Amino acid sequence: MKRLTLLGATGSIGRSTLDLVRCHPSDWHLYAVAAARSVDEMVAICREFSPDLAVMTDIAAADQLRQRLADCGCPTQVEGGSEALLPIVTAHEVDTVMAAIVGAAGLLPTMAAVKAGKRVLLANKESLVTSGRLLIDAVASSGAELLPIDSEHNAIFQCLPLAVQQAGGRAHLAAHGIHKILLTGSGGPFRSRPLGELAKVTPDEACRHPNWQMGRKISVDSATMMNKGLEYIEARWLFNTRPHELSVVVHPQSVIHSMVQYCDGSVLAQLGLPDMRTPIAHAMGYPQRIDSGVAPLDFTRVGDLSFGEPDLQRYPCLALAQQACWSGQAACTALNAANEEAVAAFLEGRISYPRIAAVVADVLGLDYGNEPVCLDGVLAVDTMARQAACRLIDRDNHRS
Ligand code: NDP
Ligand code: MG
Repeated sequence: MKRLTLLGATGSIGRSTLDLVRCHPSDWHLYAVAAARSVDEMVAICREFSPDLAVMTDIAAADQLRQRLADCGCPTQVEGGSEALLPIVTAHEVDTVMAAIVGAAGLLPTMAAVKAGKRVLLANKESLVTSGRLLIDAVASSGAELLPIDSEHNAIFQCLPLAVQQAGGRAHLAAHGIHKILLTGSGGPFRSRPLGELAKVTPDEACRHPNWQMGRKISVDSATMMNKGLEYIEARWLFNTRPHELSVVVHPQSVIHSMVQYCDGSVLAQLGLPDMRTPIAHAMGYPQRIDSGVAPLDFTRVGDLSFGEPDLQRYPCLALAQQACWSGQAACTALNAANEEAVAAFLEGRISYPRIAAVVADVLGLDYGNEPVCLDGVLAVDTMARQAACRLIDRDNHRS
């Protein structure tokens, strides 16, 4: 029986993970769950799975959950506040942690799970974006295992030789015959929208992804292709790539989830329906294969597959992320922080869609001093970049 702590239990990845636990009740025990403030969803989860512990980072939400569980006789113990995330990921009772909190809020518990030497199923890409070097170094010193959940990185992982899979992000790709990693992305809902119309797109349109059902923040990131940019940085750390070993390919159908090109001309790809239960099942079962409940891919219905180069005029966020990737940790942290603030402002109707990239570009242009070498340094850059982004967003609001 494997024991799981699920961070971000009420989100899109959280729900898919619970589906897998539901499908494999004799293999998995849900030790702890965590979310921010979705009390109704947490009540339902606790009643169904009876985890030992439930954490709500919002204290008032934790109080409500405690009361509601007491009322229905559910034995789950409830804790409140972000500090309460740390014991549920480091507890000796836990062997696997699903890191599926959205945003930089996922960084500290993900790092704590890695330092405690757990098997970490990593959905929270923001923690690698903001602290790639620190996280990969922590994996090496603690002996933790990092298994990618992001569908592209999970696909790449599956296409890599075993020795590279087990190298904890430290393999020399060329020494294993690997020429290049090809990160595929659909191009999102605005791939063929005339550029002049982008100023008018609404949050709901941006969240209507053609192929994937996801949370709202990552859906907007998919429309701007910042998501691919964050994934580019994520891939750089997970697979230890150098600039010429990593490319983005637009593939609108999302049937191929990414590819690895070898020096002999072979290309290995992972294919499947766009359903996150596949990568989650892969990581939960690794190295075995387990049922995910996802239907088999029917090639007679797939239709044509097409590929192209990303248009960086349409997707300036992708270009910004690629530049940040090779300029350093401060730039990646600032990029992520500015993007989180700008996307939240767009979703609340406070800035227009094209302003997301403009805010990120302006914040990236600031001077962040020396490269951060510890988590406190990362958090300081994160705070500075958020403040700068908020000032720009407020200025927009005063103008309009
Ligand atoms: P959702 O927005 O659907 O869910 C976010 C989860 O995080 C919720 O459980 C939410 O709780 C919780 N949460 C938010 N803020 C905090 C906080 N400060 N402290 C504790 N918990 C918090 O996001 P997704 O499931 O879509 O994405 C989760 C992560 O996985 C992201 O990093 C995303 O980039 C990544 N990912 C997602 C994919 C997908 O298909 N959805 C694909 C690949 C990667 P509450 O409900 O209470 O607010
Ligand atoms: Mg992805």
